Amino acid sequence: MEHPLQAWRDTLDELGVIGLVRTPVQAAEAEPPAPSRSPSVRPTPARPVPAPAPAAKPPKAYVPPTDAQGCPPVEVVAATSTLSELQAAIQGCLACPLGPGRLKFVFGEGNPKARLLFVGEGPGRDEDLQGRPFVGKAGELLDKMIGAIGLKREEVYIANVVKCRPPDNRTPTPEEAHACLGYLRRQIELIGPSVIVTLGATPLRELVGVAEGITRVRGQWKRVNIGGRDIPVMPTFHPAYVLRQYTQDVRRAVWEDLKAAKEWADKAAGA
Ligand code: SF4
Repeated sequence: MEHPLQAWRDTLDELGVIGLVRTPVQAAEAEPPAPSRSPSVRPTPARPVPAPAPAAKPPKAYVPPTDAQGCPPVEVVAATSTLSELQAAIQGCLACPLGPGRLKFVFGEGNPKARLLFVGEGPGRDEDLQGRPFVGKAGELLDKMIGAIGLKREEVYIANVVKCRPPDNRTPTPEEAHACLGYLRRQIELIGPSVIVTLGATPLRELVGVAEGITRVRGQWKRVNIGGRDIPVMPTFHPAYVLRQYTQDVRRAVWEDLKAAKEWADKAAGA
């Protein structure tokens, strides 16, 4: 005889009623929780992935000319015996990227047998226009600094690490300085100064090989060997720095450095 409940169950099945059979609890718990969605918050649409930026083109390498005028050979520079000969040999130089951009070549000027040689970094705008080193505001101050130790500009020699103006008055790159340094060294050999005063960090680093900050080493004697001769070097601030930091301390420091350089030059000359 059929169980009375079986008939009742068959009836429910026919009606499509579900839920009489318990869903296993584990199955429900295994489902990940449905993300709660607020009807007012829409899912953020996925952003399109930006296309990678095209690789920047490497700057075109500067190719110096190979002729003796554009790139004076070392032996030609070494064979010069006066400053005028040296200037004539190198004034068409295009050996580094600064050459094509210059207005005027700034060789240097002063007493060709000066006991005191000042070396700066490179020509600025005024120097590029006039073809002379240290003109303009920094040059005026350098003249005053030289005057403060009892000398005139014509009695000393003034030159730079590079002879062509770096764009926007930036510091010459080590490659540019290296390309030009042979000219300065020959210039120094021909002048034969007793003392070199380096103005700022660049000539100290490029000519003397001292890379310490100028604030730390100014006023401390260094040496550089040029043409087999050891020349004492006095590092001091660049006049442009003095103009920016026009304090009594800075001006006094420069005056003391120049005074020490002058005393040494006088001593070397037996004055
Ligand atoms: S900076 Fe010196 S090496 Fe460069 S082009 Fe001028 S003279 Fe030649």
